[in-house]
Amino acid sequence: TLHNMVQDLKGNIRVYCRIRPAFDAEAKTIVDFIGEDGSLVVIDPLKPWKDGRKIFEFNRVFGSSATQEDVFRDTKPLVRSVMDGYNVCIFAYGQTGSGKTYTMSGPGGESTEEFGINQLALNDLFLLADERKDIMSYKIHVQMVEIYNEQIRDLLADDPLLTKYPFIVIFPCMNGNGLPLPDASVHPVNCARDVIDLMKLGDGNRAVRSTAMKKRSSRSHSVLTVHVRGEDTSGNIIHSCLHLVDLAGSERVDKSEVTGDGLKEAQHINKSLSCLGDVITALARKNSHIPYRNSKLTLLLKNSLGGHAKTLMFAHVSPEGDSFGETISTLKFAQRFS
Ligand code: ADP
Ligand code: MG
Repeated sequence: TLHNMVQDLKGNIRVYCRIRPAFDAEAKTIVDFIGEDGSLVVIDPLKPWKDGRKIFEFNRVFGSSATQEDVFRDTKPLVRSVMDGYNVCIFAYGQTGSGKTYTMSGPGGESTEEFGINQLALNDLFLLADERKDIMSYKIHVQMVEIYNEQIRDLLADDPLLTKYPFIVIFPCMNGNGLPLPDASVHPVNCARDVIDLMKLGDGNRAVRSTAMKKRSSRSHSVLTVHVRGEDTSGNIIHSCLHLVDLAGSERVDKSEVTGDGLKEAQHINKSLSCLGDVITALARKNSHIPYRNSKLTLLLKNSLGGHAKTLMFAHVSPEGDSFGETISTLKFAQRFS
C-alpha cells in the first residue's frame, strides 16, 4: 500500500505511541481520537476551551485497550530481523508511571499472558532458531547494564556490590563483530526462561544499591542486550544485537526538588535523552554527522543506531489530564522521528 511505501522511504526508524489505561476509569482522558493511520488527537480535559486539540502523527498508536500481544504483533518482524543479521534497538520513552516497564517487562510476576516485549521477543528468537536449526546454528548471549549519572554498571556482574564505577569502557569504533560491551559480563542463554531469570537477577542487583529502588530505577536507563551469532552450513557467520532499553523517566524535575543528587540526576537524564533525540533526528534526516559521542547511551548503542540497523521507539503517555504538559512534551519529542 501507499502507506507502507511511505514508511519504507522514511527508513529504519519507527515510532509507536502507547497510551496506558487510566488509573481512574471514570476520569476524563486526554485522548480525543486515535486514527488507524497512526494519528492521535489529544485534548487537555482541564482546559478544553483554551488551546483546543493537538494532532500528532506516528507509525502507530496503541490505545489503552491494546494488549501486550497487540503491541508485540507490530514489533515481531523487527525482532525477527535480528536473526537475519540486523541490529535492532527498541526504546521505551516517557515520563515515570506512563507504562515503559509494563511494555518492556510486563507487570511482573509469573503471568505469561502479560509478558512484555523482552520476554516475547526472546521467545520468538528461540523459536526461530529452532525452526532454522537445519540451516543455521545460533548462539545467543545476553548482557544487562544500567546507565546512571553517565556511568555504566554491569547488572549481571558476579558481585555487583563490589563493582566500582565507572565499570565499563566503550570503544568508540567497535565493529559489528563480537560483543558490544567488552568489559561487561556475558551470559549464554538457551531459552527464554534463562533470560527471564537473568533479568530478575539484574533487576535485583539494581535494588541492592538503593533503598529507594523504585525511584532509582526511574532515574536510570536499563539496557538488555541480546547478542546473536549465527553460522550457516557453509560456515558463513553473522553477528547481530538486539538492545531492549527501558529509559529513565523523561519528566522535568519539580523545581522544589532540584537540589543535590536530584539535580545531578535530572541534568544527566535531560542530557542523555536529548542526545538520543539528536542522534535519532540526525539519522531520520540522513545527516552526514551523527552526534553519538555526546552521551554514554548513544555511544553504547552506536553500532545499532543508523546504517542498516532498525530502531523502534515507544512513546508512552499517561491518559490523565494532570500530566498533560508532560504528555505534550513526550509526543513532541517522539514525533520528530516518525
Ligand atoms: P514506568 O515504567 O513508565 O514508570 P510502569 O510500567 O511502571 O511505568 O507503569 C505504571 C503503572 O501502570 C504500573 O502499575 C503498571 O502495571 C500500570 N500499567 C502501565 N501500562 C499499563 C497497561 N498498558 N495496562 C495495564 N496497566 C498498565
Ligand atoms: Mg519503569
